[in-house]
Amino acid sequence: MNKKIKRIGVFTSGGDAPGMNAAIRAVVRTASYYGIEVYGIKEGYQGMIDNDFIELNSRSVANIIQNGGTMLKTARCKEFFTPEGRSIAANNLRHRHIDGLVCIGGNGSYTGALKLFEEHKIPTIGLPGTIDNDLFGTDFTIGYDTAINTAVNAIDKIRDTAGSHNRVFLVEVMGRDSGFIALAVGISGGAEAIFIPEENSEMAKLIDHFKNHSRRTKSFSIIVVAEGDKQGGALAIQQKLEQEFSDINVRTTILGHIQRGGSPSARDRVLASHLGYEAVRALQNGEVSKAVGIVGGEVVLTDFDVAISKSKNVNPELIKMAEILAN
Ligand code: ATP
Repeated sequence: MNKKIKRIGVFTSGGDAPGMNAAIRAVVRTASYYGIEVYGIKEGYQGMIDNDFIELNSRSVANIIQNGGTMLKTARCKEFFTPEGRSIAANNLRHRHIDGLVCIGGNGSYTGALKLFEEHKIPTIGLPGTIDNDLFGTDFTIGYDTAINTAVNAIDKIRDTAGSHNRVFLVEVMGRDSGFIALAVGISGGAEAIFIPEENSEMAKLIDHFKNHSRRTKSFSIIVVAEGDKQGGALAIQQKLEQEFSDINVRTTILGHIQRGGSPSARDRVLASHLGYEAVRALQNGEVSKAVGIVGGEVVLTDFDVAISKSKNVNPELIKMAEILAN
């Protein structure tokens, strides 16, 4: 029989994402409903080591669901990579009688939690909190929907100025290793081309396209580039286009961190609330070292080692569709 969970800790770790507050709120309120006490741990694993805990109750998470960022703050913590750092964290948790954790973060944070369980038997359930949407075990991660909406709003504005000057605009979006953001933003922003890390043929296609269409001088184009694209990002692509075409008028906008900020979309709030609720229930059911996600509308628990080692791929049919729709 599972030991009854009486007190849990919740923390956000790695990069921040809009919707993390909605997830914290859901964890705290679900736990309160079941009579479980909650400590918030500040700045992820750093706060666990520095003993930076705050008691949370239903009222302390009032009026945060609409806020971007994370009320608990987040951090990357070098010390937690070491067994010594994790021992200090485990002692601090034991000292407070915390018998379960909810970690809102990405693969790195899941890896840390897995080690904490292997070495100190403190169970963690993970929630996928990253704008990149590149975590296995869930169709969507918390923050992705808000980030793509922020980027599309920016593109709509850039389109106005691009059209007024017959310019080609390269818009660089986040996505160091994956093209989920770029693909969604490119499709919904009506981009003429989309550069993602998973594909390597877009540059040749774009040059061909501009050679064969008078469009580059008579109209304007929006091209979306993931920061991790193989050409080296939007500025590198701009250089290549300028080398190839002397008459082209290219501008680059790098959206950067605005994609991480802002009030979470309704979709992210619902997702974060649902996953936060399920995380507490999973801990209560004795689940350990698992990430909660939603796949095809169903709640799914994925072992951390599987979630960490498997990759989620962009849908190749969407890449093909984006090309067809850009014609
Ligand atoms: P994001 O997707 O935003 O990068 P993430 O959770 O993958 O989120 P990381 O910076 O990789 O972010 O990890 C967050 C923290 O988790 C690290 O700073 C570290 O404290 C802990 N962590 C990551 N990898 C490990 C590991 N191999 N062993 C122990 N702890 C780790």
